[in-house]
Amino acid sequence: MRIFDNRKPNQMPKVHNFSAGPCILPQEVLKQASEAVINFNELDLSLIEISHRSKDFVEVMENARSLVKELLGVPNNYQVLFLQGGASLGFLMAAYNFLPQGKKAAYINTGTWASKAIKEAQLIGEVEVVASSEDKNFNYIPTGFGIPNDASFLHFTSNNTIFGTQFKKFPISRIPLLCDMSSDIFSRKINPRDFDLIYAGAQKNMGPAGTTLFIVKDSALGKTGNKIPTMLDFQTHIKKDSMFNTPPVFAIYVSMLTLQWLKKNGGVDWIEKVNQKKADTLYNEIDRNGMFRGVTEKVDRSNMNATFVLNDDSKADEFNKMWADAGISGIKGHRSVGGYRASMYNALPQESVEALVDVMKEFEKKFG
Ligand SMILES: *Cc1c(COP(=O)(O)O)cnc(C)c1O
Repeated sequence: MRIFDNRKPNQMPKVHNFSAGPCILPQEVLKQASEAVINFNELDLSLIEISHRSKDFVEVMENARSLVKELLGVPNNYQVLFLQGGASLGFLMAAYNFLPQGKKAAYINTGTWASKAIKEAQLIGEVEVVASSEDKNFNYIPTGFGIPNDASFLHFTSNNTIFGTQFKKFPISRIPLLCDMSSDIFSRKINPRDFDLIYAGAQKNMGPAGTTLFIVKDSALGKTGNKIPTMLDFQTHIKKDSMFNTPPVFAIYVSMLTLQWLKKNGGVDWIEKVNQKKADTLYNEIDRNGMFRGVTEKVDRSNMNATFVLNDDSKADEFNKMWADAGISGIKGHRSVGGYRASMYNALPQESVEALVDVMKEFEKKFG
């Protein structure tokens, strides 16, 4: 049970929430969000029952967009949009807006989400998969591949949520880069100038499910000659400041609160260090503890999603009971990898990682 009413805003939750997404959000954000659902800005109205064109909500939208710009250092020639449809619709929108029919796009296939992006792009034009780690069940990030100069762009997934790998350095490319950053945006410093398009579903580091963030370079749009359906055309939404149709007001509001929380605590510089420490703590234990082994190549390990398995699967029931008893939630691995996946998104405190490490040590003592 998560009872937060009688807790201080920064007090630790009683459940250690390692969910892969939707995922943990800061306790104080949940509290503010719940209050706004009842009475927003002292209006005696709920956030979700006022017009999205009201002054109070327009302010939320503007705040959310400027926080994105400030926290990531987005230059002025980029637009920030909060749309619907998830990163999964983003796969199609990316291709519609950047891949002229009859032209070719380059994609890196590093897992489930990258494969889905490829499938959507193939509806628009030709896709050349320039690198893939499918041969080893996506347990590494490919290197040393060529990028064709005649492709319209290179698309990749910065963090592979399911398999637990992460690009530590982004590809250096002469053609525009498009990136699905759903599961590591705001977790580390990036340079938005390196990209023509960055997109991310909110529900992993930013807020609740229901909105998708797009950061798009204005001047790169409108060049494909494609007939783009209105709702899938970034220019539609840019012209209307993300309010072409009713925006997902609650998801945007909570995203704004989470970004305020991030800024107040020291921004991306701060969280990058926090996230590094959490990842080091867990991976050190995975490597030290003879009961476990990591799933991915060490150099490519994700700081957001750590995948690991038991060396002896016959002890799974015992281990599962131990972490459940310790108040740990959400570490069962994805069915395509098995074992365990501990997702350590921005709002997960170091203490939760330490609670998991303690259970792993205890397990080794009992059964090792
Ligand atoms: C979760 C996830 C998606 C899918 O996001 P939706 O918002 O559910 O469509 C896409 N890409 C990555 C990397 C993800 O982690």
